[in-house]
Amino acid sequence: MGPVATAERDEVVVLGAGPAGLTAAYELTKHDVSVTVIEKDPSYVGGLARTVEHNGYRFDIGGHRFFSKNQEVEDLWTEVMQDEMLTRGRLSRIYYRGRFYAYPIKAFNALWNLGPIEAVRCLLSYAYAKVRPIKNPRSLEDWVRNQFGWRLYSIFFKTYTEKVWGISTKELSADWAAQRIKSLDLWLVIRSALLPNRKPRNRGEIVTTLIDRFRYPRLGPGQMWERVTSILKSRGRPVLMGRTILRIEHRGGRVRRAVARNQDGGVEEYAGSQFVSSIPMRELMRLLEPAPPAPVLEAANELGYRDFISIALMIDRPDLFPDNWIYIHDPSVRVGRIQNFKNWSPDMVPDQTKTCLGLEYFCFEGDGLWTMDDAALIDLARRELAQLGICPPEAVFDGVVVRQQKAYPVYDDVYQSRVQVIRDYLAESLPNLHLAGRNGMHKYNNQDHSMMTALLVARAIANGSSLDPWKVNADAVYHEDIRVGEKDPTGRQVPERLAGVSR
Ligand SMILES: Cc1cc2nc3c(=O)[nH]c(=O)nc-3n(C[C@H](O)[C@H](O)[C@H](O)COP(=O)(O)OP(=O)(O)OC[C@H]3O[C@@H](n4cnc5c(N)ncnc54)[C@H](O)[C@@H]3O)c2cc1C
Repeated sequence: MGPVATAERDEVVVLGAGPAGLTAAYELTKHDVSVTVIEKDPSYVGGLARTVEHNGYRFDIGGHRFFSKNQEVEDLWTEVMQDEMLTRGRLSRIYYRGRFYAYPIKAFNALWNLGPIEAVRCLLSYAYAKVRPIKNPRSLEDWVRNQFGWRLYSIFFKTYTEKVWGISTKELSADWAAQRIKSLDLWLVIRSALLPNRKPRNRGEIVTTLIDRFRYPRLGPGQMWERVTSILKSRGRPVLMGRTILRIEHRGGRVRRAVARNQDGGVEEYAGSQFVSSIPMRELMRLLEPAPPAPVLEAANELGYRDFISIALMIDRPDLFPDNWIYIHDPSVRVGRIQNFKNWSPDMVPDQTKTCLGLEYFCFEGDGLWTMDDAALIDLARRELAQLGICPPEAVFDGVVVRQQKAYPVYDDVYQSRVQVIRDYLAESLPNLHLAGRNGMHKYNNQDHSMMTALLVARAIANGSSLDPWKVNADAVYHEDIRVGEKDPTGRQVPERLAGVSR
């Protein structure tokens, strides 16, 4: 991104009041730049990092840990939250067939929990995989099966990976697994376990080894973004809620205004000299008027997303499990993860004799889960909790469903080239339209990355800084030597679909 001429620094329009949009506005107001933030949600700021409230119970769309390798982001959280930021211990384990397993997986703990019969089966299937490995494994399934054996693979990898991505592990490439999953030498584990001074770890030890620390606002991540919003208001820049963008008009190589519909059906126009977009790239390109050239629009239309449903259940029990969240690997239920919000912060529940669990279902917009009505979803969540043995259905006294579109930008075999087409078009044709944030840049990254990209965009506008937001890596750290077009080093690694496998 090139420096921005001072004469054009009159009015910035920011699209979206998630972490990226609000961080951009916060930074711009620090530089005395006039800014208007437009958000489509009628009541919540914070986007994917909002905290929803229902009858005094507060919950995230997925739990949000605040941790970053970027000190500037950490400092910004502290600056805004001050003593409302808690430091919490982390405990998150895998739940499978009524037992908790250490995460990351520890071989001895896994075999011990599986019981003698299943453990022997796992060992035999591990031995078989070692004797008869699949040659040149291409898929995630083949790679993990070679390392762990079929049975351990199917218990600890297959179900959860497929729940999250909605794609068979046969269709996912082995590369990610090879980079991210430590292979296992079960013989070594068994040998060391058989030595007299090697005792199985007790639960307490396992719990301790799994705890690390992270920060968390006392009232959930949304509290951070509610605070930024009130600071903006105090600086005379209230966030405009309930505005859905209808079109983004451009002329003569510059975006001129965003046109939005408000909640009363009225149409409003926001003119500006600089525009910052944190709304999904695909949506942004469809809103441009005149429309971009067909190949650019096609590239945008090919960007994929994974959607998400969170079902919060209020339960008449003070204590259900000590984890912040648990991964549900059990194939007999559809739930993928369960958050226990009281274990994130006790103040997320209004009454300490109760618990609020968030059951997370990964889905695609429009599929069977997405279109199920709320009562049926709450019923499903309640039944699955009982099936897992976590709590009886009658203990659930209330529930609420939150559907989240575009929770995860999908990294498939074509996304990088599509994003590049869009970037090239914008850089060349509309240089006053800046992209920031997760879906804004199609990056499957955390809040810190979204915030850092927004800070750089805001500084480019405010003082002509030339630091390129595309050079912020997945750890939210700026790296001058990131080269565009190579295997993307700025996004979190995820399993990718095998090239040549049909959709
Ligand atoms: C399940 C889950 C768990 C996560 N866990 C963590 C975690 O532990 N730690 C962490 O740091 N991060 C976590 N994240 C990531 C974090 O939520 C995102 O990185 C961050 O919210 C991205 O901020 P953003 O502003 O770029 O985008 P968003 O949060 O998506 O905000 C975009 C905003 O734009 C608005 N918008 C969209 N379209 C329009 C339109 N047409 N007009 C006006 N407004 C529009 C949206 O309503 C939204 O408010 C998690 C995400 C998910 C889904």
